[in-house]
Amino acid sequence: MHSELTAYITLACTSGVLNLYLCLYVLIKRHRYTNIAKLFLVYTICIAVYCFSSALGLLSTTIHELKLWTAVQYIGMPFSPPLGLLFVMRYLGFPVTRRRVILLLAIPVISLCMVATNDWHHLHYRVFEIDPILGAPYVHQEIGVWYMIHGVFTFGSMFVAFWLVIFQWRETAKTYRPQLIALMFGQLVPIVTAFVYLVGLTPPGVDPVPMVLWISSLLYVWSINSSRLFTLMPIAKDAIFQSINDGVLVLDEFNRIIEFNRACQRMLPRLHKRQLGQQFAETWPKLAGSPFPFPLKVEAQSLELQLANEGRPDAMYQVRITPLEHANQGEGLLLIFTDITELKRLQRQLEHHAYYDELTGAPNRRAFFQQGTMTLEESRQAGEPFTVVLMDVDYFKKVNDTFGHHVGDQVLMHVAHLCQQELQAGELFARYGGEEFVLALKGRTMQEGEAVANRLRTCIASKPLTTTEDKIPVTLSLGVAEAEDGPEETLSQLLNKADQALYAAKQAGRNRVCVYAGGGTA
Ligand code: GH3
Ligand code: MG
Ligand code: MG
Repeated sequence: MHSELTAYITLACTSGVLNLYLCLYVLIKRHRYTNIAKLFLVYTICIAVYCFSSALGLLSTTIHELKLWTAVQYIGMPFSPPLGLLFVMRYLGFPVTRRRVILLLAIPVISLCMVATNDWHHLHYRVFEIDPILGAPYVHQEIGVWYMIHGVFTFGSMFVAFWLVIFQWRETAKTYRPQLIALMFGQLVPIVTAFVYLVGLTPPGVDPVPMVLWISSLLYVWSINSSRLFTLMPIAKDAIFQSINDGVLVLDEFNRIIEFNRACQRMLPRLHKRQLGQQFAETWPKLAGSPFPFPLKVEAQSLELQLANEGRPDAMYQVRITPLEHANQGEGLLLIFTDITELKRLQRQLEHHAYYDELTGAPNRRAFFQQGTMTLEESRQAGEPFTVVLMDVDYFKKVNDTFGHHVGDQVLMHVAHLCQQELQAGELFARYGGEEFVLALKGRTMQEGEAVANRLRTCIASKPLTTTEDKIPVTLSLGVAEAEDGPEETLSQLLNKADQALYAAKQAGRNRVCVYAGGGTA
């Protein structure tokens, strides 16, 4: 055998072995690697098949053997550039969809079929024969139509992969640059070699690419060991921008829309790429139905915005407007929309829990004191009377003891419900605690308060609670007290007086109203 042939075979085998090594290495450690390892596995298998079958082809002595090994080469060779491209795409964060995979692998599948059946149609190789001068295993070939398509596609895939890496160079953190170098030169080595081969600058009759692929493999080995290719991966900044949950809208120095992400488009379904370059102030009403309610000032602001979406009429957003700092020469604005609908709902729920009684739904003691104090102050300033009524369910403990706690609860709800029905706007009703309720009447004198109290008492007394088993009579005792003139008296002091009146009502036999009368009660 010629010594140069031995060298060719050795180099091709070296490439094959290195790819096999890479493949096994990644296979064994695949659990520790990101998803991308799978693509790399198939990629290296294809290259290994290509290299070994190319080496075996160089041992051929007949045209049949040569054709057979060429066909086997095509099981690997045409697939490796698009797989390399898919690998680079996934690595850089470009979406690798099933559609893209099918599209990219369609031509290699056809190329494989073409080579396997070339004798019938000669579309891949017009001529494929043992080189008449050099003899086997050197081949004399003239390329056919499909070979051209296959060649353009193969080069195209490698070029696109190469350019994608170059393109992302600046966008990628320095830590990942060794990985990018490996990927870049890993693609460049076969591109340059194939090019030199096609222009006829390499020894004739043999494909030199498998003989140099070991260089790419060594680069990958270096990258895996030095900068943890597969375990640490850069993410393209655009991918980050697009995957932020907050809606981001970027305006230039003239307040024209220059960029937005997918989340923003979800929040504003009418937002479209066509609107890029348009004035934000003119575009916003078309997106949201009303003008943008805040000034577009170049200063940090944080605002709340209601934005009714289809299916989400109560959607609330926090809008942060900040100056652009790291792009567009620092000119322009960044509008960040954070969905706070759920937060607002929780806030409302918390507020409700803080100010409303869970059982009866009536305002609680805290709410009563907060609002009552304000109302008392207002009445005082307006020179109006202010009266409170304290009410207590009679013999309530007995209800609990006789019918059970849950029936006791129903009595409380029943009383609260009837009182709220009876009362008019401006009359502040609340659950004071236990089986006690309270009423604040702005602008009402003690006599008027007594009348209201009697109305409530008769109403409750005439409407017993009807349960499935029983009719439970309910009565109230009520104490009424009016605020004195002068600023000293607090709401608590006033309630204390009402409590004394209530006590008197209890003493007098219950189911009655007593008013506070100076040192005593009447
Ligand atoms: P009086 O006629 O003197 O007012 O007697 P009473 O039995 O109504 O009053 P007492 O203060 O002796 O009992 C009040 C009871 O109310 C004691 C407590 O267990 C019960 N209670 C307080 N809050 C609730 C509640 O939310 N649900 C129920 N079912 N019972 C409650
Ligand atoms: Mg009580
Ligand atoms: Mg009671």
